[in-house]
Amino acid sequence: MAIKDQPQPPRFRLISNVLLLLSSLFVLANIFLPNLFGPQIPQVPYSLFVHQVQEQDVVRASVGQNEIRYQLKGEGDTPGQVLSTTPIFDLDLPKLLQEKGVEFAATPPSKNGWIGSVLSWVIPPLIFVAIFQFFMNRQGGGPQGALSIGKSKAKVYVEGESAKITFADVAGVEEAKTELVEVVEFLKTPDKFTAIGARIPKGVLLVGPPGTGKTLLAKAVAGEAGVPFFSISGSEFVELFVGVGSARVRDLFEQAKKQAPCIIFIDELDAIGKSRSTGGMYGGNDEREQTLNQLLTEMDGFAAGNTTVIVLAATNRPESLDAALLRPGRFDRQVLVDRPDLSGREAILNIHSQTVKLGPDIDLKAIATRTPGFSGADLANLVNEAALLAARNKRLAVAQEDFLEAFERVVAGLEKKSRVLNEKEKKIVAYHEVGHAMVGALMTGGGEVAKISIVPRGMAALGYTLQLPTEDRFLLDESELRGQIATLLGGRSAEEVVFGSITTGASNDLQKATDLAERMVTTYGMSKVLGPLAYDRSQQSFLGDGMGNARRAVSAQTAEAIDQEVKEIVETAHTQALDILKANRELLETITSQLLETEVIEGEKLHEFLTQVKPVDKVVA
Ligand code: ADP
Ligand code: MG
Ligand code: ZN
Repeated sequence: MAIKDQPQPPRFRLISNVLLLLSSLFVLANIFLPNLFGPQIPQVPYSLFVHQVQEQDVVRASVGQNEIRYQLKGEGDTPGQVLSTTPIFDLDLPKLLQEKGVEFAATPPSKNGWIGSVLSWVIPPLIFVAIFQFFMNRQGGGPQGALSIGKSKAKVYVEGESAKITFADVAGVEEAKTELVEVVEFLKTPDKFTAIGARIPKGVLLVGPPGTGKTLLAKAVAGEAGVPFFSISGSEFVELFVGVGSARVRDLFEQAKKQAPCIIFIDELDAIGKSRSTGGMYGGNDEREQTLNQLLTEMDGFAAGNTTVIVLAATNRPESLDAALLRPGRFDRQVLVDRPDLSGREAILNIHSQTVKLGPDIDLKAIATRTPGFSGADLANLVNEAALLAARNKRLAVAQEDFLEAFERVVAGLEKKSRVLNEKEKKIVAYHEVGHAMVGALMTGGGEVAKISIVPRGMAALGYTLQLPTEDRFLLDESELRGQIATLLGGRSAEEVVFGSITTGASNDLQKATDLAERMVTTYGMSKVLGPLAYDRSQQSFLGDGMGNARRAVSAQTAEAIDQEVKEIVETAHTQALDILKANRELLETITSQLLETEVIEGEKLHEFLTQVKPVDKVVA
């Protein structure tokens, strides 16, 4: 018992020496550490920070030993500015932050290097102690990783709460719906699938342009299955400080697992899932990377268990996602949610006009015809604008006239954002795509033409022709490659045949055709003149997209011969395409007028049309 009270001078002296050493390190670290953070964040005086907190302009703050970083309220969807200030000894800060509704966190000690961690635990400035104690008193230690007040911000929608959204509320995306009906079944009767030993998919990625109903579809899945729906937006995960985002992910999955079967919906997945090779926003990639890693870990985590948690995610930039996210067992299912075609648009207009009073002269089909390229959200907006105009014109019901006026307004706004085709452009695009399809139908090597569409997709493509391979092909022979080139030139050729001129829309096709021809000559040695020599140094597979143009050093004559050969190939293909289209001119008109009417032709109908395309030599003879 006496032992306890004995003084221990030697150990005490050791500790004070260590303290001395550490405090000098601390001073040094103070000088160097601030420069280690990524991009510069504007510094403001502490008094301004406190003022902003009092004015409730601050959304969140993260209090570190040397710096307080905080974010101002943003406007609408744009996040507010991030500022930083140097903390002073202010024990009331935590209370103030809490009173003013600021979500705040104390940054956990740095995991990189011992200097950071020792410093933060041994000689923390008093402000940090104050914040730390605040958390300790509040919850007796926080979740590991971050001491954070704003736990997961996931909003939970449970069935029955608010108006239940079902598949009936979504239109124009029939393919996506079909795929998601299956997901509903997984959630409702998982046993049916697990009994046979099938693995229920964990992640389904909804891919499509903004406003096409991805969020709506996810809610509809939850509504149909009658399961809780946890929703969080990717941008909400992206925190200023390392550790907070990943703590949120962990927390979200914990909550969800307790309520299984359920759906976790991550909107704007690209905000966290951006490829790790590309740069980050603030503070480097560290935070996002940790959040992403945590997400991957969690998704791998509920593997064999009996909990059915399906993660739905939405993005409009699938190409920017980290490859790790798309691996089997994660988001291995992708569902395309595209802009609606004519009948889809009519159905969407129908859904959204159910809640407004329509006059007797309303023709929704006519409105749908006028709105190619509109997304579901644009159409919902159109209906609302029309209703507003009707009210302003003191009408009792919405008239067709209101719709037309609303259309002008909405289009004026949209034309800046994306492409809306006028009648003339629509016609050109239609002939162009039918040209691709008809030439493609006769050529081997390009696969079967599966779909033609003049519904604009994305910013660049005004229309498209989809060719699906009938079998896996890795080796193509010369005639097949020539066929592909002719198909690529089919669009431009159709414009020439019909209008006698070509538009800028064909430039991408031309680029691809020329590249292919050049590779035939320089890489595959398919030229009779130049012989089987590879003039191309880079070992590009023609399936890859890289256009390595590093030619072997060649003589001027050879270079000229290569150009000559490439030109010959492209020109022959061009003539071939022109001949086919000229010989089938009537069919070109028939298919195009059908396409202009329905905007999409696919399946049996397309097959029927394309089998009528006659090969040239039979016609000529
Ligand atoms: P996304 O998540 O793809 O950007 P949203 O699901 O948020 O688009 O769509 C916004 C709104 O637009 C929806 O709430 C709905 O009112 C309307 N909307 C969009 N697509 C459709 C659709 N396919 N069918 C019916 N309404 C739609
Ligand atoms: Mg959305
Ligand atoms: Zn084209």
